[in-house]
Amino acid sequence: MQILYPFAKRFIAGEDLGTAIKNIHSLNQSGFLSTIDVLGEDTQTREQALAAKQEYLNLLDQMKAETFPLDLSIKLTQMGLDIDREFCRLNLVDILERAGHHTVRFDMEGSNTTERIIKEGVTLHRRFRNLGLVLQAYLHRTQEDIGRVIEEGISTRLCKGAYREPESIAYQDMDAIRDNFFKQARRLLTDGFQPAIATHDETLIREILSFIEAENIAPGTFFFEMLYGVRRDLQEDLLKKGYRMRIYVPYGKSWLPYTMRRLAERKENILFVLKSLFRETFGLGKLH
Ligand SMILES: Cc1cc2nc3c(=O)[nH]c(=O)nc-3n(C[C@H](O)[C@H](O)[C@H](O)COP(=O)(O)OP(=O)(O)OC[C@H]3O[C@@H](n4cnc5c(N)ncnc54)[C@H](O)[C@@H]3O)c2cc1C
Repeated sequence: MQILYPFAKRFIAGEDLGTAIKNIHSLNQSGFLSTIDVLGEDTQTREQALAAKQEYLNLLDQMKAETFPLDLSIKLTQMGLDIDREFCRLNLVDILERAGHHTVRFDMEGSNTTERIIKEGVTLHRRFRNLGLVLQAYLHRTQEDIGRVIEEGISTRLCKGAYREPESIAYQDMDAIRDNFFKQARRLLTDGFQPAIATHDETLIREILSFIEAENIAPGTFFFEMLYGVRRDLQEDLLKKGYRMRIYVPYGKSWLPYTMRRLAERKENILFVLKSLFRETFGLGKLH
């Protein structure tokens, strides 16, 4: 799968902490905030989970001197959710304690984890106010979960959802997902605590901007979020308009599952990979 690395490089800020930090600084100098993800998920052993936790702790130590607020994005299956729930919780507590005033956000994963992630989030948030969650607009249940996070005052990222889910629990049609996104975003923007609107969908962003203007929602009460390497033009645009723009910055060696999801999101990405494969196999494009 090394063949996919040239493609992966577009979406990740490097394979090691040093390179990632350089990228975060450079984003910060251009006015962007970051949410940092140490790549990895579906961890099978305690050793792997402990190593991932240690990487987050190292990252926090390295960033200690920074004055700008950081957001960390963490996958609970990386911290051992499927190995032992108590073990996973202890790993999260270590990170939450070390994070201090920085935000630790639990990424949302496949639907077999949704309820467990929300429950852990709600319970731990009562002890750690710097904890944030993510909800996915394609899930039917999100209508209720948004009520839950608003009631608990948990800062929540709203995204469309990146996993393949069955029709019985998730909208499949893009218009239906978009409608639900807009509906839930309005609730978060009006009543939620520091929500993040995470999409590159221009139609949705336009609708959301009109809503924000019509309702006089202050730019300091929410964030826009986009992925590293995706729609830099829109990222710049929103920043110039005076909105807070946070970039999801993944780094690390376990880039394959993340890259596969980015690949699946856009047919042009698949074409790009197929073209590179073709070129490499038949030696086209070489300088001879
Ligand atoms: C900050 C952030 C955090 C996220 N966290 C999670 C999470 O915790 N759990 C989860 O399930 N999902 C997460 N996602 C992914 C999300 O659920 C979607 O899968 C992804 O954002 C694509 O949806 P979209 O809203 O951008 O709309 P789309 O309709 O998919 O894309 C709109 C436009 O954006 C551009 N674009 C989108 N994706 C790509 C791509 N891969 N390559 C190139 N161009 C692209 C294209 O121009 C496309 O036309 C996150 C997304 C963001 C932005």
